[in-house]
Amino acid sequence: MTNEPNILLVYTGGTIGMVKDYKTNALRAFDFSQILEKIPELRQLNCSIDTVSFEEPIDSSNMNTKYYVKIAEIIEENYKKYDGFVVLTGSDTMSYVSSAISFMFENLQKPVIFTGSQLPIGDLRTDAKENLITSIQIACAHENGRPVIQEVGLYFEYKLYRANRTTKINAEQFEAFTSMNFPPLAESGVHLTFNKHLLIYKNDEKNALIFRKNLVEDIAILKLFPGITPQVIKAVLGIENLKGLILESYGAGNAPTEKWFISLLEKAIQDGLKVVNVTQCAGGSVILGLYETSTDLKNMGIINGKDITTETAVAKMMYLLGENLSQEEFKHYFESSLRGEIS
Ligand code: ASP
Repeated sequence: MTNEPNILLVYTGGTIGMVKDYKTNALRAFDFSQILEKIPELRQLNCSIDTVSFEEPIDSSNMNTKYYVKIAEIIEENYKKYDGFVVLTGSDTMSYVSSAISFMFENLQKPVIFTGSQLPIGDLRTDAKENLITSIQIACAHENGRPVIQEVGLYFEYKLYRANRTTKINAEQFEAFTSMNFPPLAESGVHLTFNKHLLIYKNDEKNALIFRKNLVEDIAILKLFPGITPQVIKAVLGIENLKGLILESYGAGNAPTEKWFISLLEKAIQDGLKVVNVTQCAGGSVILGLYETSTDLKNMGIINGKDITTETAVAKMMYLLGENLSQEEFKHYFESSLRGEIS
């Protein structure tokens, strides 16, 4: 028996898990059960690491809610046994999946850190080793007998972010993610520095972990652009079984004031569609009523997404639609911060 923290590494796929077969020059999936042999530096971390891997690792472009449930079930089944979890996924949809996991668990009191990389672990110039090693170190961090991180984080290129605040912004640079509306939870330089005043901290172990896996997929994103036609709006609002719509508006939540646009949206809301207003800007917030161009939206009862990212609006919509809430309750919960996702 040791007092070393034990970490479960969950590999779902993505670039990070690839090594180059130097005979064929092709990239192939890496066997994560051999991780300590392949990355001996991990032994210096003073923690024990177990691994579990999807039988068929996926490119994260194939991510869907069934995989969300699979990842969350692995965490739930092993929650008592491990001190922390590091989940490896492809970076392309990492903000979506990690946000969804943040809503699927209530009263999370252990770290769940998502990471990946831009270059495969077997590449000479890889960013995978640093991302993986520091993510494990973050998952191991304890203070006064409690984990420092008690929420879902996303670690990439020297920064730990609150997962549900992130967006992938770069397909080329190692700094692939940003969190425009919330500062990093931790930064890795010569020292690993936690911004403790920003962390979600719970010290009541009596609150048991609640796991929700009912996610509703009947939603759509509608991004406005100058010149958008009634046909486009009608086509989206006419989608069979549509239950939720994320409207990506301009600036501080502004949209056309043309009568056809306002009446189409108003009718949809009256008929029970949940419509959330989020900004298509990378940073900043929807402020309903700031301009005349958002007054009609406010009056028709649109939900104010405030400074939520589109990725997190998708996850929160899927989660709250599964909770059978009334129109008022849905609006109330969407506009409240449930996991630190809005300011
Ligand atoms: N296409 C890959 C994926 O998201 C890219 C990556 O791993 O970063 O699975």
